[in-house]
Amino acid sequence: AAPLTPPYMEGLNPPQREAVETIDGPLLVLAGAGTGKTRVLTTRLAHILAMNKCFPGQILAVTFTNKAAAEMKDRVGRIIGSAVESMYWLGTFHAIGVKILRQHGHLVGLESNYTILDSDDQLRLIKQIVRSHDIDEKRWNPKLLASLIDGWKNRGLMPSQVPDQEGQDYADGQGKLLYAEYQNRLRTLNAADFGDLILLCLTLLQNNPDVRADYQRRFRYILVDEYQDTNVAQYLLLRLLAQGHQNICCVGDDDQSIYGWRGAEVGNILRFEKDFDGAQVVRLEQNYRSTVHILGASGGLIEANQSRLGKTLWTETEGGDKITVNPVWDGREEARVIGEMVEDRQRQKQPLSEMAILVRAGFQTREFEERFLTLGVPHRIVGGFRFYERAEIRDVLAYLRHIANPNDSLALERIINVPKRGIGDATVNKLHAISRSQNCTLAEAGRRIIDTDELRGKAKNSLTRLLDDIDRWRDQAKDNDHIALAETVMEESGYSEMWRLDKSPDAQGKLENLGELIRAMEPFTDLAEFLEHIALVMENAHNDQQDKINIMTLHGAKGLEFDTVFLPGWEEELFPSKKSLEEQGPKGLEEERRLAYVGLTRARKEAHIFHVASRYLYGNYTSPLPSRFISELPADHVEIQQSQGMYGQATPGGFSESFSGGGATQKWSQGYDPGQSGSYQLDRSRSKSPRAGARPASKTAAPSAFKVGDRVFHDKFGYGIVILLDGNKLEVDFEMSSSRKVMDSFVKPA
Ligand code: ATP
Ligand code: MG
Repeated sequence: AAPLTPPYMEGLNPPQREAVETIDGPLLVLAGAGTGKTRVLTTRLAHILAMNKCFPGQILAVTFTNKAAAEMKDRVGRIIGSAVESMYWLGTFHAIGVKILRQHGHLVGLESNYTILDSDDQLRLIKQIVRSHDIDEKRWNPKLLASLIDGWKNRGLMPSQVPDQEGQDYADGQGKLLYAEYQNRLRTLNAADFGDLILLCLTLLQNNPDVRADYQRRFRYILVDEYQDTNVAQYLLLRLLAQGHQNICCVGDDDQSIYGWRGAEVGNILRFEKDFDGAQVVRLEQNYRSTVHILGASGGLIEANQSRLGKTLWTETEGGDKITVNPVWDGREEARVIGEMVEDRQRQKQPLSEMAILVRAGFQTREFEERFLTLGVPHRIVGGFRFYERAEIRDVLAYLRHIANPNDSLALERIINVPKRGIGDATVNKLHAISRSQNCTLAEAGRRIIDTDELRGKAKNSLTRLLDDIDRWRDQAKDNDHIALAETVMEESGYSEMWRLDKSPDAQGKLENLGELIRAMEPFTDLAEFLEHIALVMENAHNDQQDKINIMTLHGAKGLEFDTVFLPGWEEELFPSKKSLEEQGPKGLEEERRLAYVGLTRARKEAHIFHVASRYLYGNYTSPLPSRFISELPADHVEIQQSQGMYGQATPGGFSESFSGGGATQKWSQGYDPGQSGSYQLDRSRSKSPRAGARPASKTAAPSAFKVGDRVFHDKFGYGIVILLDGNKLEVDFEMSSSRKVMDSFVKPA
């Protein structure tokens, strides 16, 4: 009798099923976009667990992004239930590296509480080292050293392993030496950069046979998605870990290798069969994701690449629209037209989460963010760095928010002891108690308590000073110069000084961000307007359950799929990117083309390409040519749209406006157009946040429940008799000490 098909395997085609059921031994699944590689990997993982082959903690599953890891966990969870929670080793290479290092980092000189440096911190440290060697930074750009070091790390090379001739590429042969010094500095700081997260794991496993054997025994099964984008260090790590049980399954597509610039080696795919004895290879050819037109267009495009393994793809889906190419006037127009198309689809009940805007470069997102804010279309920036969420930015915003709005007690609480001024938790708890019992703001509670003896010494002085400072800043806010105000606050509060005195590697970056915050305030006319803008941006960032359109880079979109995909900025120099052509020549062009292929193949139903006639790029307004990739698309699958906005909507005013713009910031301010939003939230929030200067009269305190002559008990001062009433303040004659002023909420009748 034919074996029963477990429900999770239903619907798989024969080669997919073969891949799922080939559990033991090395397996490579090599197949094009949308053929179900990720689905196979997930099902296979569930199958292994369903067959009781091992415990969830004995599977190592590597995904390319945290989002992909969460998705895989979700999908496996639906098949195997809560056991998925014990899949400790499911995550990105970096997340796995972090876990290994937290446990065994001491073997390579890291304590378990080490910090991870981002690339800004990394560059800053490298600059320090370059300077300390009196190397001419103009001649030898520290960034070059940074990329050499990254390159070595990506190849799994510690300083001593770098071939001598390669160290010659920087500062007359000092490259290797500087790399070694950089590693030493990292260890002194108890820090690791991103490359270290893999390199140090590799090193510690290579040098410590016991630990290595331990992990090799532990990982019964290893599964890797997006295998084409592993670098050599990652490959070596996988190979080492797989040596125990030899059960490794990698899935990938050479046409989607887009991280060559970061050291990824498509060659790892070709090495697989050589390195793993008896490896089986499964190919998948049926595409389940996209329409014929999307498949045809992307397939035709990628054929222009010389170096590829080549593969056949077909689909059973019929019908569907051709992909469109849309010429528009400029970036603003592009955002406007896409905004309209998004709203159209919204009206046709397409969920926003099924749409994505995929950009080549990070700067492109801004125009869309601003446009969607104006339209009130919820959107999310996936994987992008959210400026306003950085701790130092939120600190300064908290000062400003509290100045603008004395009722904003959350803001006051955030900064009440930042920088440290001796107002500890005990004091803050007292303030909360007062504000609760007397139903007043935290600031008002502060005002009331400093008139009493409840606080003493440093806490009392500091709180007095802070509240006075805030009053003064609030007065200054009346001048309506919000930028000067922010500068005053950062200086007078000691906030900037705190970072200037901070010796940690990221302090400099925080100061730079504070400078950037000042620049970000420029387009706004006053503090209230600026804060409203921030509130909208932040709200958008936080409410994650809501249906939102996705804005992300092409790189970040790998492995994902959406019904509708918008592809703006298909112009020469932007895409293919000038930088990658200059730095990597024909190889760079092929990688850019693969990126275009990744972009198109994210779409299930619709793909819309845009290019502009005028683009602000690298500090100038340019008149770019349409991307060569557009002309490489097979005509049968493409429909060229009438120029939108170019001749129709764009007014001469729009024309000159684009050219008179002084810089990116100014353009941004023009894009931000609250006037169009009518009765939209902006008005509501504006009337809610009091204008600077309109300081509300302090609330009159509720009358005290005590009267003169009452005997009371106070936690700190003991028993006493009330001798004077002053609102919520009492003067009490304490038995164990003299008379003191206290808050009535801190005494009980006795
Ligand atoms: P990419 O290369 O973009 O990462 P992929 O090969 O990993 O793509 P998946 O994301 O696994 O492809 O699958 C693409 C889509 O096809 C998904 O929506 C998936 O659920 C669906 N799919 C895969 N296999 C089948 C099948 N046998 N029957 C129906 N739908 C399928
Ligand atoms: Mg996939």
